[in-house]
Amino acid sequence: MMNNLNYINGEWTGKNLQQSPVYNPSTGEVVSEVPKGGKQEAVQAVAAASDAFEGWADQTAYDRSKLLRKFFDLMIEHEDELAEIMTKEMGKPFKEAKGEVHYAANYLEWYAEEGKRIYGETIPTHVPNKRLQVWKKPIGVVAAITPWNFPAAMLTRKMGPALAAGCTVVIKPSSETPLTAIKLVELAEKAGFPKGVINIVTGSSREIGEVFLTDERVRKVTFTGSTEVGKKLMEQGASTVKKLSLELGGHAPIIIYNDADIEKAVNGTIASKFRNAGQTCVCGNRIYVQSDIYDEFVDAFADRTKQLQVGDGMKEGTDIGPLINEAGVEKVDEHVKNAVSNGGVVVAGGHRIGEKGNFYSPTVVKDVNPSMLIMNEETFGPVAPIQKFETEEEVIQLANDTPYGLAAYVFTESVSRGTKTIEKLDFGIVGWNDGAPSAVQAPFGGMKESGLGREGGHQGIDDFLEMQYVSIGI
Ligand code: NAP
Repeated sequence: MMNNLNYINGEWTGKNLQQSPVYNPSTGEVVSEVPKGGKQEAVQAVAAASDAFEGWADQTAYDRSKLLRKFFDLMIEHEDELAEIMTKEMGKPFKEAKGEVHYAANYLEWYAEEGKRIYGETIPTHVPNKRLQVWKKPIGVVAAITPWNFPAAMLTRKMGPALAAGCTVVIKPSSETPLTAIKLVELAEKAGFPKGVINIVTGSSREIGEVFLTDERVRKVTFTGSTEVGKKLMEQGASTVKKLSLELGGHAPIIIYNDADIEKAVNGTIASKFRNAGQTCVCGNRIYVQSDIYDEFVDAFADRTKQLQVGDGMKEGTDIGPLINEAGVEKVDEHVKNAVSNGGVVVAGGHRIGEKGNFYSPTVVKDVNPSMLIMNEETFGPVAPIQKFETEEEVIQLANDTPYGLAAYVFTESVSRGTKTIEKLDFGIVGWNDGAPSAVQAPFGGMKESGLGREGGHQGIDDFLEMQYVSIGI
């Protein structure tokens, strides 16, 4: 039986606090309970991380790497258990959850190695009696706030580089999905991280967040979640000039040109749109298809969509699980109804499924236009709106016409057209004939209101380091 408690300074705590239920979105049943922590617990966690910082930062990158590698091995050893916890609290199909466990573990492995490559610099001097250098230091205590849609990967994408750089961490997972995060911390404890290096507090996001953003001992907050909350955190962090990394919302366009390989475009769009029931920040949210192939694409895509199996993620053969909660279903339904009442035509799905659980049928709406809600907001559900376009200029303008700038997708067999289009797109990640571009070794993050900074790749460790310029008189 796992400890569904908080972990502060090497102790499992919070049994005596009020407990909050965690629900299974497929059944509505309570899966477990977690402590309803608040200000006091957040302060204790920050103090523990602050006390542990010096000792952790003083370890060599090689010693830290060994622990991260052990943590990675334990994740793989416990992959089924982790995936089952994730499916039960979040809903994604078990095989997809297992995929996330591997993706998440890979961040630990990658940064176990990358921590050994935190190089400084020497700079040619302008006078003979000086030597100029740039040193790199861990930034300090890092607070990580994570969302529910990738309960493991969004955490290890932060913990991996933070720990490898020599930072200590305090974690606040989403209240919808705290169990995967708690299990990960349990595995980290098993791997042997010293007490205070990793701490987790569940409970009131407002109270815990306020401590993280305003306590001077926290030197960096790394957040993945909605743009709305990200903006609040920026305001709150101003009083201590908090360093922030923000991985926020998206509204990804998928552009399909008339020279695209239709099969590739259908497969890529299915992968981008319906992974995690459409609840990913990089989900294709607006599909633009050039007029010559519009009907052919819509037919082929709708056919494939109708074949997707919706159900409990623990059931063999399920492609699409439930949405995270009732509010998620209502938002999706509102977007579909708004599109239909403004001229959109449903060619697959278009309705809730069943009385129990938060299931929505995989949906395709064609003939949408830019005035509809669905073309302006993150839907975060299994709905694919398709709009016809004529020219490159027109579609680039449509694609960029959003405050978001996270991911975009382009399907064309023409190198020249693909290159010219991508150069003009204001998005941090582009999949060219690829519906699933994320990779641990590549930088992930958005432009405009989709965030600040990058996670993953060799770039992802920079946000956890301070640069110190040292001028040495000799
Ligand atoms: P959310 O509502 O912004 O919540 C994210 C996290 O912030 C949760 O842990 C939440 O805790 C916490 N939180 C909420 N209000 C807070 C406050 N006032 N102060 C401090 N913390 C607060 O987002 P979500 O619904 O969990 O996740 C979906 C969003 O995340 C989508 O917009 C999606 O695009 C985005 N996302 C972005 C990326 C990326 O890499 N760019 C990746 C995944 C998801 P509680 O749950 O306890 O309220």
